[in-house]
Formats: sequence, C-alpha cells, structure tokens
Amino acid sequence: MSILIAGGGIGGLAAALSLHAAGLHEVQVLEAASEIRQVGVGVNLPPHAVRELTELGLGEALAQHGIPTSELSYYDRRGKLIWAEPRGLGAGYRWPQYSIHRGRLQQILFDAVVARLGEAVVCTGQRVSGFAPMAAGARVQVTERSGAVRTIEADLLIGADGIRSAVRQSADPALGALATNGWMMYRGTTRSGRFLSGSSMVIIGDEHLRVVVYPIEPGVNNWLLVRPAEDGTNEGATHQNAAEALGNWNRSVEPQAIAQCVQDWTFDWLDVPALVAGSDIAWEYPMADFDPLSQWVFGRAALLGDAAHAMYPFGSNGASQAILDARVLAWHLATQPDIDAALAAYQAERLPVASAVQLANRRQANDVMAKVSAMVRQDAHAGAQAELKEVEARYKRLAGFDAETLNARASWSVGGR
Ligand SMILES: Cc1cc2nc3c(=O)[nH]c(=O)nc-3n(C[C@H](O)[C@H](O)[C@H](O)COP(=O)(O)OP(=O)(O)OC[C@H]3O[C@@H](n4cnc5c(N)ncnc54)[C@H](O)[C@@H]3O)c2cc1C
Repeated sequence: MSILIAGGGIGGLAAALSLHAAGLHEVQVLEAASEIRQVGVGVNLPPHAVRELTELGLGEALAQHGIPTSELSYYDRRGKLIWAEPRGLGAGYRWPQYSIHRGRLQQILFDAVVARLGEAVVCTGQRVSGFAPMAAGARVQVTERSGAVRTIEADLLIGADGIRSAVRQSADPALGALATNGWMMYRGTTRSGRFLSGSSMVIIGDEHLRVVVYPIEPGVNNWLLVRPAEDGTNEGATHQNAAEALGNWNRSVEPQAIAQCVQDWTFDWLDVPALVAGSDIAWEYPMADFDPLSQWVFGRAALLGDAAHAMYPFGSNGASQAILDARVLAWHLATQPDIDAALAAYQAERLPVASAVQLANRRQANDVMAKVSAMVRQDAHAGAQAELKEVEARYKRLAGFDAETLNARASWSVGGR
C-alpha cells in the first residue's frame, strides 16, 4: 500500500512512524518547508499523547528533552492561587505529561523517521497543491521548490498539512473557513530561571487578559499571553489583515511592547513583565479555528491533525489530538480488511472526539474563563475552584485523558497490549 503524507509537522511525522510500526512501510512525507527547522515555542503533551509516543519508542527522548509537568495551577491577576491539581505521574497516570519545545518535538519525530524509514522518506521543498481522486487511490499534485509541478499517484493520501491545509481545500474549498474570536496570542521563551516547583504550568489572569507559563527546559520558560486584538476584529475573519494572519505561525513581534500589557503583574513567585520582556523574540498569532468538519475522508484522501480539526490552543490538545489521529489511522489501516474500511473506521473513531475538543476549547477560552473570573472578582474563590475542577474533569474525559480510562485502554500498537 503506497501512502503519501502531505506535511512533515507533528501529525505527519507521527503518522509516518505509526504506519511503519504497524507494518506499513511504503510511506513518503512531502513537506513544503525547505528544511525541518526547530520553529515554534512550547507545546504541552498530556499523558494520552505521551502514551502514544512512548509506544512508538520515544519515551526516553521525551524524558531527555522535555520537562515532566507536575501540576497545573490557576491564579487570579493579583497572583493569588485559585486552584491547582497534580498532573502526569503524580495524578495517577501510567505516563508523564511533558512540556517541550515544539521544534524539539518535531526534531525527535524527524530523527526517528530518518532512523527507521530512511533519509529519503521526508522530502522537503515539496508543497502539495491538490489532489484528484482515482478509482482506488489519489493523484497528488506537488509544487517543487523550483516551481515545477509534478503528479504522484498513491493508494492513499494523508493530509497532515496543518491549519491551512491544501488537501482540505482541494477536497472541498468550502470546508474549514478559518475564523477568530478576536483574541491575539503572543508567545515566547525566556531563560528566566526556575519558578514554583520548576515543573509547574500556571494560568494567570481572567477573561480580559491572561498568561500561561511553563518551563520547557530547566530554567527556560515558555509564555503565552492572550488578549483582545488591538484592531478589535471579533466578527470572524472578515478583516483583511486578520484574514491573512489567521493560521500564520511566523509573525514576529517586539517582546517589550507585549510586556507592557502585564506591567503590574509582579508576584513574589513570578515576575511576569520581566519574563515577557526577557524573550529575544516573540510571535503573534490570532486565536483561530474552524467549525468541526462533517467528514475527514474524501475517497482515498484522509485529513489528520490541524488540517482536520484546528483548535484554539487552550487545553494542551493541538499536538496531542494529531498524534492520536496518527496512531488510530495506522491501527485501522493495519487491522481492517481494506483501505476504505480502515478510513471509515478512522473517521468514525476520531472525528467525534476531536470535534468535541474543538468546541470545548472554544468554551474554555470564552465562557469558562468569564464565569470563573466573575467569581474571583467577588472573592468567591471556592466557587471558582469547584467550577474549574469540574471543567477540567469533563475536558479530560472528552479529550481521552482521564486517568482511569487512559490507564485501562487497550493499546493502538498492532500486536500490543
Ligand atoms: C511554524 C509553526 C509553528 C508553530 N508553533 C506553535 C507553537 O509555538 N505552539 C503551539 O501550540 N503550536 C504551534 N504550531 C502548531 C502545532 O504544531 C499544531 O497545532 C499541532 O502540532 C498539530 O500538528 P499538525 O501536524 O497537524 O500541524 P503542523 O504542526 O502545523 O504541521 C503542518 C506541516 O505541514 C506543512 N505544510 C503546510 N502546507 C503544506 C503543503 N501544502 N504541502 C506540504 N506540507 C505542508 C507545514 O510546513 C508543517 O510542517 C506551529 C505550527 C507551525 C507550522
């Protein structure tokens, strides 16, 4: 079975490794970027994603390069604790939770692909620009670095080409219209030393302004600041500039200017303005997603990761759900009687879960923060605590990482436990 993967990001590389582990070796990854570079800032991998990466043999690499997140804490904008819970092994999981640089994670996956499938498997400078269905396969159009266009035929095309997926566009241009809730995210990393336990993830602030911080290396802290966009674009992607910015991870911004938003957020346990201002560079990204899709499979083309279910980064599930997609798709391709049955089973298993996470992330980013913040402003911290506890528990269940279910679930490794 010949399989082409569009996109060598987290989802595409996890798919290549999963297919190989499931005994499907005729795999090629086409990546638009001219090289695999360590771009992005931090990502957080809860235990459901770490389990899959561990079963792919990457547990040691994660332990070497990531920080095992030991707790998640919410603070109000005065720096007062609202609620905290243990994470990873301390929360009873069989697998840790890790915070890690996105580029480092991508490099770990890339190195494993090269070691296991060979150097020629990932072709950079190859942009997939569309596909045409065939009776039993897909004819894939690829634009090379030189601008030359060629076509490649494969039994299966996997669209792991991110939030602005060309595969999704080619399947149906009406699908996946990007929209924003009018919030801008600013991201950076700063060598600012240890804070709290040295492995804490904190969310500080309210529905008007908030900051998420966690270490991704000893002493190196990842920060994410979220606030309404200055141009007030809040009616979806109608504004020209906003529309161009949606889904673009590569827009840089001056960290000092961003630090001014939190200039009085200096606590005895963390100096937030110094943290933000201390970055060499920061990145801005409008919070963007699209409505859940009704279908991920189009003949012999299947969407995976952000191409299928781009979501607000609010719940540590963007990369995680992509990794889960990869594992489940490989599992079905290896165990179902034919490709079409496998694709149908993949969509039936993954689409409802990922769609629910997309919608939950919207609620978390908007309604939940507003409700919790309103209680905190009235000094009703106990009520806020109960609300957050319930929201987190519900979220884990729907995203597939409540400890009991995850610990007991059968493996997606072919021939595994
Ligand atoms: C440059 C960049 C920086 C990011 N930074 C962060 C971050 O700091 N924090 C965070 O939480 N998330 C970040 N993300 C998003 C995060 O990686 C994803 O949300 C998540 O990992 C899901 O992975 P994915 O493989 O579906 O998508 P992605 O990780 O976005 O990977 C998609 C890959 O497809 C490639 N591609 C795109 N179009 C084509 C095409 N037509 N043909 C071939 N290849 C194509 C891209 O170059 C990319 O390598 C970033 C993504 C990118 C691309």
